Amino acid sequence: MTKRIFKSICIVALSVFLFSIGLFMGVLYDYFSNVQRSQLRMQTNLAAQGAANEGMRYFEGLDVTDYRITWIGMDGAVLYDSRSDFAEMENHMEREEIRQALSEGIGESSRYSITLLERAVYCARRLPDGTVLRLSITQNTLLTLILGMMQPICIIFAAALGMSLILAFRLAKGIVEPLNTLNLDEPLKNDEYDELKPLLKRIAAQQCQIRRQGEELRQKQNEFDAVTTGMTEGIVLLNEKKIILSMNPAAMRLFGAARSCVGKYLLSVNRSLELQELLQKASDGKHAEMLMELAGGTYQLDASPVLSENLVSGIVLLLLDVTEKEKVDQMRREFTANVSHELKTPLHTILGSAELIADGMVKQEDIPGFSKRIYAETQRLIRLVEDIIRLSCLDEGVEGMKWENIDLSSLADETVQALLPEAEAAGIQINFCGETAIVYGIRQLLQSIVFNLCDNAVKYNHKAGSVSVSVEGEKNNVILSVADTGIGIPVEHQERIFERFYRVDKSHSKEIGGTGLGLSIVKHAAKLHDAEIELYSVVGGGTTIRVCFPVYKNFTKL
Ligand code: ADP
Repeated sequence: MTKRIFKSICIVALSVFLFSIGLFMGVLYDYFSNVQRSQLRMQTNLAAQGAANEGMRYFEGLDVTDYRITWIGMDGAVLYDSRSDFAEMENHMEREEIRQALSEGIGESSRYSITLLERAVYCARRLPDGTVLRLSITQNTLLTLILGMMQPICIIFAAALGMSLILAFRLAKGIVEPLNTLNLDEPLKNDEYDELKPLLKRIAAQQCQIRRQGEELRQKQNEFDAVTTGMTEGIVLLNEKKIILSMNPAAMRLFGAARSCVGKYLLSVNRSLELQELLQKASDGKHAEMLMELAGGTYQLDASPVLSENLVSGIVLLLLDVTEKEKVDQMRREFTANVSHELKTPLHTILGSAELIADGMVKQEDIPGFSKRIYAETQRLIRLVEDIIRLSCLDEGVEGMKWENIDLSSLADETVQALLPEAEAAGIQINFCGETAIVYGIRQLLQSIVFNLCDNAVKYNHKAGSVSVSVEGEKNNVILSVADTGIGIPVEHQERIFERFYRVDKSHSKEIGGTGLGLSIVKHAAKLHDAEIELYSVVGGGTTIRVCFPVYKNFTKL
């Protein structure tokens, strides 16, 4: 802008200067021309008087250098000329000034030389005898004047140019300076130029609007941040070029990204090819999802395009934790496979034995043995199905089951009594000790816990071993303890025996009618009662399993 103003001022100044010089020269030239003309007229009048009085004698010995005097007869013939040989001069009748003098008494005219550098000015006066006296003078033309003045003009022009440049530079700077130092934070406080007032008012109004919109945006951003920060799900907003606009803390944790990732490509945070494909699908305007292992869990990634005017202007990426769901699905798959496998074995045995008997392939005396096997396998099958049903019920939850205050002591005592015949048959001593201890729970589930623990203690015991069952109340707990002097559980299996169908010795378990589901039922049922299970076991030395029921639950749901 400074340059433009500087240039404009220079052009204006020089144009005005040149125009003024031209005008001034013109006026000056005109003035001096007029002065010369009136002098010429005066001289003509004087000479005319002299010629009228003295005739040809007036011209004799006349010495004029500045003027040229010509005397012209009535017929136009030149009678005298101060510069040329008048005898050879042509007739002057047609000359403008002569014709005018003859008709009006005085005549004037001027003629330019061929080079246009000089001009002859003529003044003619008619004498009383009808002859005409003419005086002429040579004048410089305006062009000559200009050419003659060229040197001083150039010097003045150079001085004016220099002055114009300095002044133009200062002026331009002076004009632009206040514009450069405008206080745009408070536009209305600037009063340098009145012409800028409307513009400054508009800027102030727009700043006000921008501030208001900024405030609204900030508020919305804060609300959005507050919502997304608290979310356990990850949320990432990307623009159409897949650059991160926003990422909530959950997503940062999952991608292992820092706050500075905003403004970078998401693919620089996670280079997974699948993620790249997922985002590409969303970029193409389609909703897409995939499963991904992140931060030790399984996450479902949902990518949805954000459309504006039918064009994808961004992508919303949601990260949902499906670790539990995946685990449950996995367990369900494994459970189904295990169930079919577990059911197949007794069914095959039953089918095989029945077929042999039906085909008459079994001797009469072997039939009771086969029948026993069929009976035992059927029993195991029934137990298996019952356990599966029980577990399925527990998986469904405890809704519909009756919660009540139960004396765990008498429940354990009853179970021990019921197991006495089996224990005796195995040569194992089983005893119970305990006092009334109320647990708030579901009777069938508590029975399952006690029964499975006691049944295992008998099943996995040595001949002539013993089982001690006790229920005792501690400060905040009721503790059921089942201790046996049995085979014990190796340390490496202790963690896993509560898994479904997990057995330390599969064939031994099957032999004694185990289903592999007893401890899973115990674990599940205990969990539903907020009870903790503790296991102490030494191989060959016996096993003690303690189930600690919290007392705070007691009586609370009455
Ligand atoms: P099972 O029907 O086979 O007894 P459980 O789920 O009740 O299934 O037990 C799982 C496994 O844990 C058993 O197969 C057995 O190997 C082991 N186990 C359970 N209780 C005891 C115990 N008291 N002593 C030794 N091993 C045991």
